[in-house]
Amino acid sequence: MTHPTALPQQAALDAIDRAHLIHPVSPWRVHEQRGPTVLASGKGAWLTDGNGHRLLDAFAGLWCVNVGYGQESVVQAATEQMRRLPYATGYFHFSSEPAIRLAEKLVQITPASLTRVYLTLGGSEAVDAAVRFVVQYYNATGRPSKKQFISLERGYHGSSSTGAGLTALPAFHRGFDLPLPTQHYIASPYAYRHEHGDDPQALIASSVAALRAKVAELGADNVAAFFCEPIQGSGGVVVPPKGWLTAMRDAARELDILFVVDEVITGFGRTGPMFACEAEGVEPDLMTMAKGLTAGYVPMGATMMSEKVYAGIADGAPEGAAIGHGATYSAHPVGAAVALEVLRLYEEGGILANGQRGAAHFAAGLDGLLDHPLVGDSRHRGLLGALELVSDKASKRRFDASLGLSDRIFAAGYRNGLVFRSFGDHILGFAPALTFTEDEFAQLFARLRKTLDEVLEAPDVRAAL
Ligand code: PMP
Repeated sequence: MTHPTALPQQAALDAIDRAHLIHPVSPWRVHEQRGPTVLASGKGAWLTDGNGHRLLDAFAGLWCVNVGYGQESVVQAATEQMRRLPYATGYFHFSSEPAIRLAEKLVQITPASLTRVYLTLGGSEAVDAAVRFVVQYYNATGRPSKKQFISLERGYHGSSSTGAGLTALPAFHRGFDLPLPTQHYIASPYAYRHEHGDDPQALIASSVAALRAKVAELGADNVAAFFCEPIQGSGGVVVPPKGWLTAMRDAARELDILFVVDEVITGFGRTGPMFACEAEGVEPDLMTMAKGLTAGYVPMGATMMSEKVYAGIADGAPEGAAIGHGATYSAHPVGAAVALEVLRLYEEGGILANGQRGAAHFAAGLDGLLDHPLVGDSRHRGLLGALELVSDKASKRRFDASLGLSDRIFAAGYRNGLVFRSFGDHILGFAPALTFTEDEFAQLFARLRKTLDEVLEAPDVRAAL
């Protein structure tokens, strides 16, 4: 159904979208029925849709527009680079100044273990590259039996043909013949629904024990790597206790498996420091990143690795032979120029610090909704957070999926000029731009409470409580 007040041009776009455009991670036939929500412009934390409706974006696009919309200096950096040199391949030893400067900058701002940078087009490609590099590393260093990968239940690592198998969400496996026989999972440190959820040390110990047990089951000589997000994003914003990442890193080292941290969401100030690893001084063997790297202005991601992994691969290949991984747009100069300007805005433009100041308002706003009859849990770190909806707070019982609660909350939020995100039917996610002002946080939580109150008014929702 086209929006009732849709302008004629919007109706035409709507029809073309339904007929031809396949949307990412969407129910295709449902989308044909429902049609798109066309966004037209953005400024700061605010979006305007094709019908002129203004929205406060509490999800920074898809947890990526960390610097807000309409940053002129980023537009200028892209324009200047396009004018000077819109494209340079990295093949045949060619390079470009922005790619070189970005590599240097990333080495400076990431954990000290990471000294080598491979620039990609986004997060899925960064994860895919990390998997290929890990496989290459063990083959090159004479341990070809190490081929098994372990990740976390509820984890998200993109949708490439191997990355989607490290992802442990059913929609990414169903019909795609995943996971691969080499992909295995251990329990998520999901405190709200974990038997040790009230005891951070016990929760950490249980994750470490699960990793050890899985490695023992598969055989230490067969396990290549453990992949994790420092805070699980698409799995419903699962915030592990402080110290969890360190404990997992230590366990991986002791078990002689590579420790790969996926900072696609948590990087670039999302959780407070530039990277979530930094908060605990964790030094991974490989790290993936994207999203906040270019703040969504153009596509770019990166896979970084330690000198040990780099040297293993570099020295293991036959002398002079190419290591066959790369793409036409690897280290794209426009992406790199945008990333350099976005990184400048985080640091010299004060955006990282603004995000750190905003975290207290964000935390207070989310926790302030714990008194709402629909809300069972509030969890957050930095500007990454979620509310979990329950029909009974004591038993943590979920609402029946047939109520379509999260869709209704999303629709009501939209009418109230607010966008966020839902996970399944019971988790609402929030990731505002790091530029949010105190007033914008106040508007976010006022609109959110109004939205939850409106949904609570519905007789079937009341009856489910
Ligand atoms: N890893 C993580 C942790 C992610 O959150 C995402 C995207 N949400 C990806 C990988 C994949 O990134 P992209 O969507 O840019 O391919």
